[in-house]
Amino acid sequence: MQIRIVGSGGSIPTPKIGCSCSVCTKAREVGKPYKRNSNSIYLADAKAIFDCPEDISNSVNENGIKEIDALFITHWHPDHCFGLRLLMQYGYDFYSERVNHQLSLFIPENVYKILVKVYPAIKFQLENLGTAKLTLVADREIITINEMTIQPIDFNGKDADTFGFLLSDGSKNVLYSPCDTLGFITYHEFKKLDLWITECGCFSDYKGEISFEKTIQRINEINPAKTIFTHIEEEELNMAGWEYMETLKEKYCDTNFEFAYDTMIIDV
Ligand SMILES: [Zn+2]
Ligand SMILES: [Zn+2]
Repeated sequence: MQIRIVGSGGSIPTPKIGCSCSVCTKAREVGKPYKRNSNSIYLADAKAIFDCPEDISNSVNENGIKEIDALFITHWHPDHCFGLRLLMQYGYDFYSERVNHQLSLFIPENVYKILVKVYPAIKFQLENLGTAKLTLVADREIITINEMTIQPIDFNGKDADTFGFLLSDGSKNVLYSPCDTLGFITYHEFKKLDLWITECGCFSDYKGEISFEKTIQRINEINPAKTIFTHIEEEELNMAGWEYMETLKEKYCDTNFEFAYDTMIIDV
């Protein structure tokens, strides 16, 4: 199975508007790996995107992705779904008012209940334009696309409104849990992962989000073959400095992890 890191950034893409920190400056002058669009991944075997932030068009183009048949949403936060219109409308011919390509949209039921309130335009896309077919999915429900299976994984029980997805080709298993993982208490159920793509966590001691150290603890607990850290916030690198990621690689050299960058390709 092949996975692309479509965007590796956090809730605010890098470079941040108006910011002249060294990371943002390099992001403007050099581009990758300093430049990061907000978080999403692409599963080529299913032609599926997971999450669509506001800058999804730019991300899809920079990754050279030509076909998107399915879109999965982890939770309602804008950096994971406010690019919906762009993906839901790419198969629509405005002048002939015809749908040339219908997107399959998979959203956990609890996520949709909130999403439809914070992003009501989704109803216009679904009901008036018909550019996507919505399937509400339940925790651990198996969705099969081509040879791949995809399962929503609730973060904290039946009332969860934040999900990850377990991707499998029958032999290899990948868990995607990009954001808000402080409340991800079911992670310990996934002990034989070939890859965990998960939220980087804060380098600073900000209490509202998971810390990098806590994420390392969890990795050591469930011991995936490899971990890719994504959702890397500009503000964290602004404070810590770009080189800090290298010091973390040295500090935790016994743990097999890498920091994601936009257009990164992972063969599992
Ligand atoms: Zn900056
Ligand atoms: Zn996020």
